[in-house]
Amino acid sequence: MKTESTRVKKAIKLATSAHEGQLRKSGDPYISHPLAVMKIVEDWGMDEDTIIAAVLHDTVEDTSITIKQIRDEFGEQVAFLVDGVTKLGDARSGMRDLDTYLPSTKDNLLRLLVATGADIRVLIIKLADRLHNLRTLSALPPDKQKKIAKESLEVFAPLADRLNMGRLRVEMADIAFSYVDPKRYRELSDIIEKYNQSAEKTMQKIRKEVSEALGREKIKFQISGRVKSVYSLHKKLAKHNQNMGEIYDLTALRVIVNDITDCYLTLGIIHSLYMPMNGRIKDYIAMPKQNGYQSLHTTVITKDKKVIEFQIRTHEMHEYAERGLAASFYYNEQKLTESYRTGKIQHLPTSLLWITELQDTAAKLRAGKKVDIKKLRLNLFADKIFVYTPKGDIIDLPKGSLPLDFAYRLHSEIGGRVQGVKINGKMSSLNTKLKHGDIVEIITSKNPTAKASWFDKIITPHARQKLKQQLTKLSG
Ligand code: MN
Repeated sequence: MKTESTRVKKAIKLATSAHEGQLRKSGDPYISHPLAVMKIVEDWGMDEDTIIAAVLHDTVEDTSITIKQIRDEFGEQVAFLVDGVTKLGDARSGMRDLDTYLPSTKDNLLRLLVATGADIRVLIIKLADRLHNLRTLSALPPDKQKKIAKESLEVFAPLADRLNMGRLRVEMADIAFSYVDPKRYRELSDIIEKYNQSAEKTMQKIRKEVSEALGREKIKFQISGRVKSVYSLHKKLAKHNQNMGEIYDLTALRVIVNDITDCYLTLGIIHSLYMPMNGRIKDYIAMPKQNGYQSLHTTVITKDKKVIEFQIRTHEMHEYAERGLAASFYYNEQKLTESYRTGKIQHLPTSLLWITELQDTAAKLRAGKKVDIKKLRLNLFADKIFVYTPKGDIIDLPKGSLPLDFAYRLHSEIGGRVQGVKINGKMSSLNTKLKHGDIVEIITSKNPTAKASWFDKIITPHARQKLKQQLTKLSG
């Protein structure tokens, strides 16, 4: 274990005294949780500010410590991170009941996470927080277990995937799935275990054959087995009508080599040893997945008719596939960031370019260079607020929007029939400025209610235009 710096020690001390006397549901002292979350982000190789923010992440919400205090003692960065994690919690508790809170589309919440997360490190702390809560989920009552597990499957595991944090995604999804559907979880883990046992001999033989062949070609490599996760098997079976015969990657071998040329050489060597399956060769090096994942995949059939998938990649690609975004924050990882830049890892997909920008800024920070802190924040959503429908859909609106803007945004038919509005369950005036996190319910009338005086109660061009059309129609 590495020794903590003075700042980290100070943060641990502060958190420990702040949470003094508080207990977790398991009966453990509360501080065990922030300490575990800290350990997780530390293992992910995050920077010191993130580590400090992780141990302090629940203090502002659950203790008397204030953001100002944290800013004074640990600086602007840590304060910003803790504030971000706290706000993320606030935005969520806006929907008191998780059942109604789960938005109808998963993208909605991802958007919210990104928006309120603002600094990607906030999301990383949040993911670590959720991971530890999942690891200790058995202490909660069954209904809560199910809700948290379901949310983790639908929102947090996909978020980890989007950030290409493969190892995290697998752990989260498998723990969560074991709570959502325990029976199915056991069935499928049995299947995986039995299959791996039956394939063990073949695997050993193949490892040996491949290793010898690569050695003859003087390729430096590492080879290891990878076990399929229970949840991904579940999802795949659902896609293929529960037909096990369609699952070709129950067993996979991973070959890690030094560079891209060796990846393709290795692919050729494997194909010269075993028969590749038609249509099962995937070149994610030339065409990376959306989240930036790179690898060559091929499925082969061995002489004794076993089906085995190979995944071939460079060390850099492997590091990125396992740890994703967190990998780029790794202390000594200038190398990895450098690999992006020099094209060893090809460019991140456009959808993730914002990440590259953050990485660059983070690298500068680590190097002790001055950075405009605003650059660490995603400004994409700076002038927006996010409000919810009673069903939990998230609607983004410009700051200063009013209920009619919201109504027209839902649908012009709803806008044109507004009779009143409930904000957070209370009847409110159409002049009320909406706030981040409000739950807005529009009450409509059977007949059109649009009138010219509404122009004063609207700020969005879209609503203005729709109202205009409706008035023209009504008068015509
Ligand atoms: Mn927490």
